[in-house]
Amino acid sequence: MSTASAFAINAPSLLNASSLKKSTTAKIGSFSAKFTCNSSSSSSSATPPRLIRNEPVFAAPAPIITPNWTEDMGNESYEKAMEALKKHLIEQGELEPTAAARIDNITAQAAAPSATVGFDPVERIKTGFATFKREKYITNPALYDELSKGQSPKFMVFACSDSRVCPSHVLDFQPGEAFVVRNVANMVPPFDKTRYAGVGAAVEYAVLHLKVEQIIVIGHSRCGGIKGLMTFPDEGPHTTDFIEDWVKVCSPAKSKVLGETNGAALDDQCVQCEKEAVNVSLGNLLTYPFVRDGLRKKTLHLKGGHYDFVNGTFELWGLDFGLSTPTSVKDVATILHWNF
Ligand SMILES: [Zn+2]
Repeated sequence: MSTASAFAINAPSLLNASSLKKSTTAKIGSFSAKFTCNSSSSSSSATPPRLIRNEPVFAAPAPIITPNWTEDMGNESYEKAMEALKKHLIEQGELEPTAAARIDNITAQAAAPSATVGFDPVERIKTGFATFKREKYITNPALYDELSKGQSPKFMVFACSDSRVCPSHVLDFQPGEAFVVRNVANMVPPFDKTRYAGVGAAVEYAVLHLKVEQIIVIGHSRCGGIKGLMTFPDEGPHTTDFIEDWVKVCSPAKSKVLGETNGAALDDQCVQCEKEAVNVSLGNLLTYPFVRDGLRKKTLHLKGGHYDFVNGTFELWGLDFGLSTPTSVKDVATILHWNF
């Protein structure tokens, strides 16, 4: 494959419009038909997509894609990854015969023609980027020229990793408008340099360096993480490596909901907990010194939100709390509500 037709995911190329135009437009014709087919099948269906279900959905880890990965390197990279995994497990003495057979099966599936599995991820990614390039990047050079110089977002957003609740889609954020953290159940843990350095780094960067003016934590309907929080046993050994420990960040929300809605249906309790967990996260934000400073100086504001994709509504609330009082869920009780 020539370099001109290779599909390269390469950050420096994003700033080189002429070279990208050449490489992507050359391929548009070959995969536009498939995109049209996918697009019409999803938009014409009246029933919810198969993946919308009222329980947690978690994906298996994917093999690493190297920055200059090209179409014809895909299978080789995958096979190398599977071989490396197999070798590692054998060395660790953890590879039972059944597991080895499973890896062989997965490798065989990866090597099979894409038509037999009905979904071609490479084609989907190519189509998606070509559409973005054609309809947004090329048509808005002023915006992308500005973004090449830096970012100055007004919003920091915490949203769930759930594939149905992308805040850029739901709130129509344009590139450069929102600094986004997404995790299971859109939770903000308390300030903790060792346990939650990832979230801490994001909050620190957004507040101190980007100087965002608003932090918004957005919960959502049918959240699998919140349902997990409501249903995982409080005591006893965990059955997951990370999930139970993570969602317990918002245990105070569970306690509050159980105390107030004793005997209610689980679905109703989950809706309540989706909103209370947002309030616990807003409370946890107060444990970050630079967040408190911003609130005192009124350069920073906190808001809670709840996106309901079942009814197509968005609820937004502000806060009224005294920084001199101890941080608790009560301090971040909802005061202002706007319903859309
Ligand atoms: Zn969720």
